[in-house]
Parts: sequence; C-alpha cells; structure tokens
Amino acid sequence: MARYTGPVCKLCRREGEKLFLKGARCFSPKCAIEKRNYAPGMHGRSRSTRVERGSDYSRQLRAKQRARRTYGVLERQFQRYYSNALKKRGLTGLNFLQMLELRLDNVVYRLGLADSRNQARQFVNHGHFTVNSTKADIPSMILKIGDVVTLREKSAKLEFFKDMAAVAEKRAPSLWLNRDLGTMSGKVTRFPERAEIDGSLDEQLIVEYYSR
Ligand code: SF4
Repeated sequence: MARYTGPVCKLCRREGEKLFLKGARCFSPKCAIEKRNYAPGMHGRSRSTRVERGSDYSRQLRAKQRARRTYGVLERQFQRYYSNALKKRGLTGLNFLQMLELRLDNVVYRLGLADSRNQARQFVNHGHFTVNSTKADIPSMILKIGDVVTLREKSAKLEFFKDMAAVAEKRAPSLWLNRDLGTMSGKVTRFPERAEIDGSLDEQLIVEYYSR
C-alpha cells in the first residue's frame, strides 16, 4: 500500500499544530512546531493556516487533511473508509473514526508497542505481528472485537524488541484494548468511544467535506 514518504514535520507545520507523528521527538524542543510554527515553503510565513478565517470549504478540507495525516492514510483509502462508514448503522462520523482506530497499525500504537503510528506501520509491514495467531503484515487491516494482536515469538527475540515491554509499560494502552505485556499481546475488547479518540479531530466537518 502506498504511503506518504516525505518529511512528516512539514505536515504538522501545514496544519499549524502537532500531529504527533514522530514519537518522543514530538515532546522535545526539537519539534518543528516549537521551532517554526508557520506553513512550510517560501511563502509559509505569510500564508495563513488558521482555518477559522477561511471559508466553510477550507475548514472542512483542513479537518479532513488533519485526520488523514494523523492516521497516515492516503486520499483514496480515506474515501473508501468514508463510503464504508456511510453504509454502517449509526453516526457516520463516529463509524469513520472507529474504523481508523481499528486499523492494525493504530492498534499496535494504541497498545503502546510503538512510539508512533509510523513506527507501528513499519513493524507491521516487516511482519513482526500476528492477528489471531496468523502473521499479519497489512497495516490497514481493520480489526474486530475479540481480535488478538501479538508480537511474534521470533521478533521478540530480536535485540530491538528485547526491552519493548519495559518501554511499553510507561505508555498506558487505550481503554478499549486489553494489553498483556507478558505475552506482548493485546485484545480488542470493544469499539472505542468518541471520548477515547483524539478530541482535536472534527468528524462533523469531515462528513460535510465528503457530502458536498
Ligand atoms: Fe509534528 Fe512530531 Fe515533527 Fe513536532 S516533531 S512537527 S509534533 S511530527
């Protein structure tokens, strides 16, 4: 699956806020938003990223882009998630966010087994995880309630993953996941509630964007 491979800090600068795409660096003074919080490019300082000044369309577009960049999903796949969310019962915006949260790479991140979604995607791509005991190397795989994600035994022996449990222990997993650091696994126990998903995402504006 294709993915964005350019500098990720530029994406935060374009949105004018931290999207937390680089793990520990995002919490350090090295964060690009801390150092130069203006849009990238030659005219970045003069170009406004403040959506409140823009039209309805620009607010909707920015909300959509912010969510898309937060989860590291390309446009075509993002549109597919929206079409699938529309077909489901209930609130389209919430269905849409839940689908993004249930992506395998996001679940690995939410379990605290990776520093960032980008790192989680890389771990999954490299085949370090199983879902229900079957090797799973597709980051966009949407998990279901009851699915169990586990770090493969072979991978757990690698130097890189040896202190993963100690690092993960410092990161609290999401409440809709049941983590077991003894087996380096986590189970999806229920759908995430809205309050458990990033509050800066505006699903209503995203729905408005795709309903135009
Ligand atoms: Fe965004 Fe993190 Fe880069 Fe800061 S360090 S600009 S939060 S990706």
